Amino acid sequence: MSLDKRIKKLGERTHRKSVAARFDERAAAEWAAQVEAFLVYIPADLRDAIRVRLESDDYEIAEGAADWLFSPAARWALPFPKGYQFPRAMVEWIATAPAEFNCGNCCEGCGLRVPRLWEWGKAAPDRSAFPVCPQCGGKPTYEAYYAKGPKPVPEEPRS
Ligand SMILES: [Zn+2]
Repeated sequence: MSLDKRIKKLGERTHRKSVAARFDERAAAEWAAQVEAFLVYIPADLRDAIRVRLESDDYEIAEGAADWLFSPAARWALPFPKGYQFPRAMVEWIATAPAEFNCGNCCEGCGLRVPRLWEWGKAAPDRSAFPVCPQCGGKPTYEAYYAKGPKPVPEEPRS
């Protein structure tokens, strides 16, 4: 390979690396902005604990919280009203949760995604951290996320 070709290849490789580095900076800036926007919904004294969790270098620690950030409620329940805050008990649970949690259950009444413990390859709907929605008292289920709206409350049988 001629010296000219070697220099050209080296230049191309350096350029690719600089493009990747800029992409990483942009992605990091976008992620930081997403985290800040999400923290608005967290009670102020718990924001640092959730930020630490979201920004952890340990993927398993960050994953459950990131799952929550990306999809905090069923589509039919969004958007949150101005000034909304997640239920304190749920935020406290997530701040100190073991790594193996996700927000795989969703409230049938209000659409809030509710954390549960889980294990790879095992469905564990009975391991919900909150058997009753900490926001409205509704029932968290896996299926509620995919519903078209709140589940109607069954009518009391008339006597
Ligand atoms: Zn609810």
